[in-house]
Amino acid sequence: MALFKEKKGFFGKLSERIGDAIMGRPEIDEDLMDELEEILITSDIGMDTTMKIMEDLRTYIKDNYITNPANVKEALAKVIAKLMDKGERNQLCQDTPLVILMIGINGGGKTTSIAKIGHKLRQEGKTVLLAAADTFRAAAGEQLEIWGNRIGVNTIKHQEGADPSAVIFDAIQSAKARNMDVLICDTAGRLQTKKNLMNELEKMNKVISREFPEAARETLLVLDATTGKNAVSQAQEFNDVAEITGVVLTKLDGTAKGGIAITIADEFDMPIKYIGVGEKMDDLKEFVPLEFAGGIFE
Ligand code: GDP
Repeated sequence: MALFKEKKGFFGKLSERIGDAIMGRPEIDEDLMDELEEILITSDIGMDTTMKIMEDLRTYIKDNYITNPANVKEALAKVIAKLMDKGERNQLCQDTPLVILMIGINGGGKTTSIAKIGHKLRQEGKTVLLAAADTFRAAAGEQLEIWGNRIGVNTIKHQEGADPSAVIFDAIQSAKARNMDVLICDTAGRLQTKKNLMNELEKMNKVISREFPEAARETLLVLDATTGKNAVSQAQEFNDVAEITGVVLTKLDGTAKGGIAITIADEFDMPIKYIGVGEKMDDLKEFVPLEFAGGIFE
């Protein structure tokens, strides 16, 4: 996969550093293990997660009788993939009707991700409706609608400043009347007012439960990978206020900070569902743990 071979971005730096640590070593010894640990810790992978990876790596090496340092990269990728593998939870719920609430701070790539997911679902033959429930940000609704037009789906929107739950209410009526498979709802990303955000989400969730009880649900958190450790603290903050069912990790095309995906998946038990790899509607990939972790030894 071309993306994972790209040395400049994503895991490129990590891959190179691990390669350097292994090169020329005659055997797997404590010195190598210490060096690997150091590399992981300094690659946006948290301390606890690094410790877990190292422990699993030692077990894997022992159980599989690995003695050649050249095979350590692959072992590491397998261990990391397993840590990120949440089974079916790594995929978007396939049941319909489905309501997806998209949350995350402004600028993270929420609008773009909504469009990308909508586009993917359309390609799968599903009918999609968008709800512009970020009524706080000026022009958020217009931006969403522009994307909606691009991917060929309708957008329900109200005036700026309107009650987000009212938008959701209208969108649900419309989705039901038109027999839509998936309703994707944009929300305002105001983390600085945690209590407000919590109340707002609660209200939206109540409206969905009341008006659309038959719908399956997803709450996806959009995180910008380029922000590194900030994305991890956002995961923490949003985890406190919402029942997150999955993560969309954006902007992995332009960063060597892919390591945070491991921390997020491990520390918060959040399944990564999609990764954003560009600004266009096709630049979204379903998350496959082994493929992702495989980037380490490309
Ligand atoms: P929002 O404020 O969270 O809705 O963020 P937007 O969807 O408007 O995106 C903010 C900026 O990030 C825009 O310039 C997008 O084109 C860009 N963007 C979003 N996702 C990606 C991605 O996966 N890769 C890259 N390179 N840029 C992205």
